[in-house]
Formats: sequence, structure tokens, C-alpha cells
Amino acid sequence: MIDKKKLLSQAAAIGVNLSDNQAEQFDLFSRLLVETNEKFNLTAIKDPDEIVTKHLVDCLTLFPAVDFPEGAGVIDIGTGAGFPAVPLLIYRPDLKITALDSTGKKLNFVESAVSELGLSINLIHGRAEEYGRGDLRESFDFAVSRAVASLNVLCEYCLPFVKAGGKFISMKGSKADEELALSRTAVRTLGGRFAECREFTLADGIERNLVIIEKASPSPPKYPRPSAQISRKPL
Ligand code: SAH
Repeated sequence: MIDKKKLLSQAAAIGVNLSDNQAEQFDLFSRLLVETNEKFNLTAIKDPDEIVTKHLVDCLTLFPAVDFPEGAGVIDIGTGAGFPAVPLLIYRPDLKITALDSTGKKLNFVESAVSELGLSINLIHGRAEEYGRGDLRESFDFAVSRAVASLNVLCEYCLPFVKAGGKFISMKGSKADEELALSRTAVRTLGGRFAECREFTLADGIERNLVIIEKASPSPPKYPRPSAQISRKPL
């Protein structure tokens, strides 16, 4: 399905060395993604080379940017068809990954793909701003999210899940600086502190940025607010 040599060399170019077995797992995952995508819409990216660069290698940028301790708890907010949750799990099966999404059919795909890969993941069907008020609040070492909302809104979805001392990593395209400038209030209000922005240039000159926010103190109980308030009055 995918060109495994391209995957191995593009991953190596960002400092991620995949085993042959992991390359096989990425190939299987890509095949399942494309097959299932024919039945219902999971992703607009269907070309195998684009899957390699824009989905797989893109998600692997988390590893050179963040040091995930053995067995760390990670929540992926708005995982969709499993990005970045499944690439994280393939590369680091020791991580305890939870993937949350409000769309059940996408989670059904993630569930069956992860089981075919022989891996295990915790799935939550629901909205981030509702689960962020429940038992999972302040319980993860890391929250990650890609292509879900603007950074100020994402902070309200994601930071409440992260323990003090943990990190929230927002995976963005080329306009991360602008978004960050508009998110200072949201970061501070939710107990975060901007740490750094890591820039990556993928194959074909595609620019990606990881915005890394530390959880400095617990999020005030008022947050996350109900969905309507978040969209009406974003922080
Ligand atoms: N992270 C994936 C999917 C991006 S599409 C990727 O990078 O490919 C955005 C996803 O976020 C959709 O699957 C949508 O259902 C989910 N989503 C958007 N807002 C959400 C919310 N408030 N709570 C939970 N999931 C949400």
C-alpha cells in the first residue's frame, strides 16, 4: 500500500528510526484507512505518498519534540481516524493512550484497526468539554491534538485533562505564531504556560509546528465551559 522506504527515510529525516515491523504496522493501518474510507469518509488524504507525509510522518514529529517517559498517559483530543493516537501507539506501544472523539463511526474504525494491529487503546466517545469536567480531569501526563479547533478553543478542551507538570501539544500548520498570539489569555486562564514552538519541514517543503504548553497549575473549576459558551465567547 504505502512505500515503506519513503516512510522509513522521511521518519529518519525527522530523527525517528522505525523498525521493519513498525513500517509493516503503518502499512497495514494505511490499508485499513483507505479501505474503510471507501465506505465512509474518514480522511480527505487518500494518496499513499500523501498518507506517508501528511498523516504518518506528521504525527511522528511528536517524538523528536517531546520526551515521553515510559508508560506515560496521553490523551488525543478529536482523534478522528486515529491521528496522532495510532502513530503514537505504533511507535511507542508502552504509552497508555486514550483517544477521544465525538464521532462514533471514526472511533469504530480506530477500535478495529488497533485490534488488527495487536495493540491496545482506550476510546472515549464524547465531547472534550464534557469529559474534561469528569473523572479524567487533571489525570494525563500529556494531551495532544491535531486539526480540531483554533488554539484558544483547544486550550479549553485540552488543558483541563492535563496534570500539573504535564504538557499539552497542539499540532499546527504554518500559522502557529498567529494562533499563539491570539491564545495568550486562554493559556494563562487554564493554568498553562507557553514552553516552546517546534518547527518541522516535512517532505515537499510542508511546514508544521508543534506548540508545546506546560500545565503550570490546575485549571479553575469553571473550565471547560459548556460548548455554546466556548463558541460564543472563546477565551
Ligand atoms: N485529529 C484527526 C482528526 C481531525 S478532524 C486528524 O488530525 O486527522 C477533527 C475531529 O475532531 C473530528 O473527528 C471531530 O469529530 C472531532 N471533534 C471536534 N470537536 C470536538 C469536541 N469538542 N470533542 C470531541 N471531538 C471533537
